[in-house]
Amino acid sequence: MKNICDKKDCTGCFACYNICPKKCIEMKEDIYGRIYPYIDSNRCIECGLCKKTCPQINKQSFNEPINAYAMYNKNKEIRKNSTSGGAATTFYIETLKNNGVVYGANNIENGSFNFIRITDESQLYKVKGSKYVHCYINDCFYLAKNDLQKGLKVLFIRYTMPNCWFKFLFR
Ligand code: SF4
Ligand code: SF4
Repeated sequence: MKNICDKKDCTGCFACYNICPKKCIEMKEDIYGRIYPYIDSNRCIECGLCKKTCPQINKQSFNEPINAYAMYNKNKEIRKNSTSGGAATTFYIETLKNNGVVYGANNIENGSFNFIRITDESQLYKVKGSKYVHCYINDCFYLAKNDLQKGLKVLFIRYTMPNCWFKFLFR
């Protein structure tokens, strides 16, 4: 297999990267900063899972919002160290208190922003604040799926432009 979806349609979402059973997809950035998957055809077993999971070539199903709320965290320190009134931090803390796992975009490390998995409140400073850049999901979908299969509560917050949506995954 050569391409999963056309480069012009690819959002660099990492879904194909996470599903590949042979780990033979490499996500590479071009000179314009666009991240696109490249397949090592020597290791590919043509299972087709990457194509099946690509949101750009498969029909998506969406859920209607159940409720909408406005909020801010009453703790001034949290508000000062966060964005959007500390809403995400509030949900992160609550999830961890309930023995859950949270995923969010890390502050810049080795020249790029990456999603990370956190199980300890002391690490939350790493994911505080919005990052208006393309972050590397890396293997976080794979890890989150494992967590859900183990019965853990998972909170995954991802903010994308220009659609500006938060994605919350709970169990
Ligand atoms: S066809 Fe299967 S093995 Fe090949 S890149 Fe896609 S997911 Fe990986
Ligand atoms: S799954 Fe995501 S990263 Fe992979 S080809 Fe499709 S849009 Fe691009």
